[in-house]
Parts: sequence; structure tokens; C-alpha cells
Amino acid sequence: MSPDEPEDYVVNPNVYICDPIPQQTADQNRVYRFYDHLRENRLTTTECRACGKISWPPKIVCNACMSDDMQWVDFPDTGRIYAFTIQQAGIPPGFDAPLVTALIDFDNDVRIISVLIDTDPDKVTVGAEVALRVLPAPRDRVVFYFALV
Ligand SMILES: [Zn+2]
Repeated sequence: MSPDEPEDYVVNPNVYICDPIPQQTADQNRVYRFYDHLRENRLTTTECRACGKISWPPKIVCNACMSDDMQWVDFPDTGRIYAFTIQQAGIPPGFDAPLVTALIDFDNDVRIISVLIDTDPDKVTVGAEVALRVLPAPRDRVVFYFALV
């Protein structure tokens, strides 16, 4: 661990875990613009200019027609919960119980699975509207979740 690494990233100094947060710079990741957009509080993905398919997660090659002519497109501002679960035990490091995980549908026909943060589990319902939340992560990275609107 380097001296400038945030201590809150160390779950337990005696346990080695893989870094769960993707590398997010141009020299490390070919869809790094996705993370640049998150830093602007924009949720984006790629759309194929050849066939119009919207991919999730963002891709450099269309998985429908194999074209590499991709463009960035923004998601709608909100999505709606398709299904959810509330976890009471076995919570991943960095989260507290109860933890709400939801499948979220967007008007662009993309479904995303995500943890809901800053959310009262008693208020979560199928069809509820959720919006993007971007949080800072160690080493100048970001992570994204959703929260009830
Ligand atoms: Zn395509």
C-alpha cells in the first residue's frame, strides 16, 4: 500500500481483496469516457451508429453487428425499479444492512442492476423512480449508484 492511498479503502489490512473499482483513465480503459461523464454527473453508454443498438455496459464494438462505429449517448434522467431485493446479512464491505439492490429499467431499453443508496428500504416499490448518484472513490475514481427520487 502506498503512503497516499486512502486508509478507508483498506477493509482489513490482513485480508487481500481484489480492487472492485475499474481503472478509469485513457491508458487503462477504452471506455474511460464513461467515467469522465460520470464525473459530470451524466450516465452514458454507447450506441452503434451502424445498427442503432444501445449497449450496456458501454462497448467499443457493437455486439449486435460488430461495428466499431460507436457514439456516446446519455441515459434518461431517471429510471424505474423493475424488481428489488433487501439484503439483511452478508453485506459487502462498505455497505450497511439493510442493503437494497434493484433492477432498474430505463426508457432506452437498458436494464441496470445497482445498489440503492440513501434510500429507506420501506419506501422502495416496484415502479418507483430512481436517479443517478455519483460518489468519489479511492485513487481519483468514481462509483455510481442510484437513489429514490
Ligand atoms: Zn451495431
